[in-house]
Amino acid sequence: MRHLDEDGRFSSLSVRMRPLYDTRLADLGPGDLVEAECVCGHAELLTAELLRMAGVPEHQKIEELPAYMRCQECDERGKVVVSVKWGNGERSLGN
Ligand SMILES: [Zn+2]
Repeated sequence: MRHLDEDGRFSSLSVRMRPLYDTRLADLGPGDLVEAECVCGHAELLTAELLRMAGVPEHQKIEELPAYMRCQECDERGKVVVSVKWGNGERSLGN
């Protein structure tokens, strides 16, 4: 029988929920998305694959991505707020 932690989630799941400041491109897998939302309201969902194709290195912290991103809508650079939307797919750590 599995045990729930105080938040009511399986403790094995909380391991996957890394804080943004500790999340690098290498931590993202298929099904995980980076949501980038500009102050102008323009939002985009980026896949790890797309970021890699754009030349983002594996060790790049997701939190620091906005410094390199420019909004396609208002053309402002560094006005983007990013967050990670973890996919539901089960994935072993270190894979
Ligand atoms: Zn914008």
